[in-house]
Amino acid sequence: MSNQQYYSAKYIVENSKTIHKNSVLVINEGFVVDIISLETFAEKKSKNFTELGDVIISPGFTNAHSHVALNSVKGLGYGNASALYDVMWGIEPALDEELVYKLSLLGMMDAISSGTTSINDHYFFAESVARACETIGIRGFIGHTIMTEYGPWTGEEQITLAKSFNKNWANSKTVHPVVAPHETSTVSPKVLKELNSYARENNLLTHIHLAQTQKEMDFIRANYNTSPIKHAYNLQILNEQVIAAHCNVVEDGDLDLLAESGAFPIFCPTTHGIGGKPMNTNYLSKLNVDWGIGTDCSGGNDDYDMFEEMRTALVLNNSVAKYNFIKPKDIFRKASEENISRISGGIFSGTLSKNQKADFITISTNTPRMQPLHDVINNIVMCASSKEVKDVYIDGECIVKDSKFQNIDEEIILEEGTNAINTLFTKTGFDKKIFDGDFS
Ligand SMILES: [Zn+2]
Repeated sequence: MSNQQYYSAKYIVENSKTIHKNSVLVINEGFVVDIISLETFAEKKSKNFTELGDVIISPGFTNAHSHVALNSVKGLGYGNASALYDVMWGIEPALDEELVYKLSLLGMMDAISSGTTSINDHYFFAESVARACETIGIRGFIGHTIMTEYGPWTGEEQITLAKSFNKNWANSKTVHPVVAPHETSTVSPKVLKELNSYARENNLLTHIHLAQTQKEMDFIRANYNTSPIKHAYNLQILNEQVIAAHCNVVEDGDLDLLAESGAFPIFCPTTHGIGGKPMNTNYLSKLNVDWGIGTDCSGGNDDYDMFEEMRTALVLNNSVAKYNFIKPKDIFRKASEENISRISGGIFSGTLSKNQKADFITISTNTPRMQPLHDVINNIVMCASSKEVKDVYIDGECIVKDSKFQNIDEEIILEEGTNAINTLFTKTGFDKKIFDGDFS
């Protein structure tokens, strides 16, 4: 029992409905053991006791759809329907292992600073993304992007790399491999079906983009005379083990089929809002479909801040709601509990209840943004920002203490990340394009 760690705080959010005041969170070997009242706590003299003070201990957030290494095209894609094809795909052929590693660390620093403890990430060179997860300490549900038809990295080799990635990381404590076909038009029906069987056989979840652009819709209509969601449904590749990002370019009947399939649709509020095509969260809620929240990446959304995404999700949903208004507590439950519960296939709960993973953050309460504090969860969702995030613990390990990263040198990551972006832009001619004003 000597390995137990004790953290006292003014408020401990066990889950979206239960808050403990003046209490102690007990952790052992990366798991929550208990939450006990500070008054009855007998180990105040223990060297393992840390008084965190006037803070909120809260479960960390899970970003249900990200590409942390795709942070290089900030400011270049706003509202541009072809941002994916012209901006993101424009630089991606020049990626390599080291560039993705360095860019991943930069994106992860942004995510962790704003209270994210887990990411569900879809990208090329997944080995490098996973390596970055281990370096910085974030929990990663990581998939190696597979494209077979068109895109920056296509071909059989990508399937081989994805499968070896899944094998290599099967036993990691904080990296959880997933199967990641890119999208319905960039992957052939044959490979989509094969990957669906492979995921089932290996008990892995699938993370896919679905119905995300008009180009995808036009391609599927031209080639299969249907919509992307109906195409995926007809191929029988949608089920409860599928995380489907976007689902915002749809036609009649699509969302009903999605609901029937049990797949988990991910709302990316900033990307969808800027592009003028939000996922129809109201209709999905009416169909009793749980939906998650993710940031996506630069080119659509230029940061990995889940505070911003939570608030934007709430505003976009309620701005067009008829009967399905949602409250800050619903959004908090999605970002902390539902996202990770679905992307982990029910293994993680995103709460700080007994025997759950010790993935948590501390949020300062004595700041102008957080006072007055009448309702802890409402303030987290409606007031808190990355500035209020003080500490971050993942798998029981302290990753950030007093806003300072513990496992990495922030200045070096920033410098190497910036150098990686410069290399990428020189290799692709993007430096000249920016100079010529091609994206303004
Ligand atoms: Zn995406």
